Amino acid sequence: MKGLKIDGAPSIDELRGTPGYPGIERARKRSIAFIECIEEIPCNPCETACLRGAIKVGRPITNLPQLDEDKCTGCALCVAACPGLAIYVKTYDYREGMSLIKFPYEYLPLPEEGREVELADRYGNTLCKGKVIKVDVSAKNNRTAIVWAEYPQEYFEDVVTMIRL
Ligand code: SF4
Ligand code: SF4
Repeated sequence: MKGLKIDGAPSIDELRGTPGYPGIERARKRSIAFIECIEEIPCNPCETACLRGAIKVGRPITNLPQLDEDKCTGCALCVAACPGLAIYVKTYDYREGMSLIKFPYEYLPLPEEGREVELADRYGNTLCKGKVIKVDVSAKNNRTAIVWAEYPQEYFEDVVTMIRL
């Protein structure tokens, strides 16, 4: 499909029509990648990073990335690989009433595990409080920190990042 022509961040309705955004019923069952890549740019590290073959860009390289929901295990390798910070992994039923997001975070200082933080939407607006579960700085992430944070399920699709410390 063609990329979206919009000003600012896309709405959830706009994202739901793109090939990288998972079906919400499927997304509520298991951890899965949300690929929020909506412009036809020449880029494909997500495709090469995914060891499961769950992301296809193909040719031309300006295609929007397409997610194969059945192949995605929610491993988050693509989250660190994306230079556009456009991919998150979310788990709807992380624990009772709470979801989990794994998002790239390129600022310092990094949050400490267990810290309460403010989580935000695509426009940078604060939505809710969350708790940092883990900060993954392992070598496989090639120096991109992946923050894991839990947050109320009612904000499942809306939360994409945290307010900078
Ligand atoms: S989360 Fe893992 S399995 Fe899913 S698309 Fe990303 S790299 Fe592939
Ligand atoms: S790596 Fe990121 S910016 Fe590049 S095509 Fe994939 S999702 Fe889009």
